[in-house]
Amino acid sequence: MKILVAVKRVIDYNVQVRVKEDGTGVVTDNVKMSTNPPDDNAIEEAVKIKEAGKAAEIVAVTVGEEKAQETVRKALAVGADRGIHIKVDGIVEPLAVSKILQKIADKEKPDLIFMGKQAIDDDCNQTGQMLAALLNWPQATFASKIEVKDKMLEVTREVDEGLETIEVNVPAIVTCDLRLNEPRYASLPNIMKAKKKPIEQINSSDLGIDTKPRIEQIKVEEPPKRKAGIKVANVAELVEKLKNEAKVI
Ligand code: AMP
Repeated sequence: MKILVAVKRVIDYNVQVRVKEDGTGVVTDNVKMSTNPPDDNAIEEAVKIKEAGKAAEIVAVTVGEEKAQETVRKALAVGADRGIHIKVDGIVEPLAVSKILQKIADKEKPDLIFMGKQAIDDDCNQTGQMLAALLNWPQATFASKIEVKDKMLEVTREVDEGLETIEVNVPAIVTCDLRLNEPRYASLPNIMKAKKKPIEQINSSDLGIDTKPRIEQIKVEEPPKRKAGIKVANVAELVEKLKNEAKVI
């Protein structure tokens, strides 16, 4: 079985994101970037499946500017076999990413495509679903447990009501939740070995995909500052305020 894993380079989750003064976006210059956290879970799961002898090859793929390659390199250091970097400058929206991944899937013919459930920069939660529609493959989103069976997967999904278990036939798209596993760290020898693993670079224009944004971003602004709370003397006062001031009961 061959597993394709989509990894996106985003602002590191520990960074306090700042809005640009002119409101055109967020500051990314000299800001630490990392792999989108659930994409690390996606890679980890693929590596575990390969270690269990149920996958033969893992291909990590990213869409983005030159530096996005770092994300693929990290995936190679934790166990992916080779990488693909589709070069696009500027913002690439989920629809364009899924059209690009569709072309890569047509070429690579993977049995499974693993992705993160959501990118923490745009919070879209769209790319996996759109890709499933474009390929006309089954999808299992928000996976917190994956069991590989013969020609199908049993996937436990995190849903609002709790957990849902479904079966999907292969080939399938799976979007991974943070609870799926504990991503491993790359060891120094493996980081060195990853430098020798191949990364194929493709220009998005060579795939014939128009990556022009379809969404016009009008303004980015900080959320309003939270007002300080108050202390109440007793439960009666709390109930009175909830009833008459907050009007929530
Ligand atoms: P989103 O729909 O933007 O929330 O992203 C969901 C998932 O799609 C991410 O966790 C990634 O696995 C994948 N993805 C989105 N954008 C990219 C990209 N530029 N390159 C590679 N994978 C991506």
